[in-house]
Amino acid sequence: MSEQKKRTTGPGSRACIRCGTHNGLIRRYGLNICRKCFREVAPSMGFKKYR
Ligand SMILES: [Zn+2]
Repeated sequence: MSEQKKRTTGPGSRACIRCGTHNGLIRRYGLNICRKCFREVAPSMGFKKYR
């Protein structure tokens, strides 16, 4: 029997939805993006820059 393993959860499933990196992931607000991409999308989403 060959049963495929479904990867629904796990360490590999958590990556930036924009660039796919695992570094500095921000799961806040359900964004699931890295902080690098967050800085790019933040202004367009109404977030102010961090100081
Ligand atoms: Zn990213």
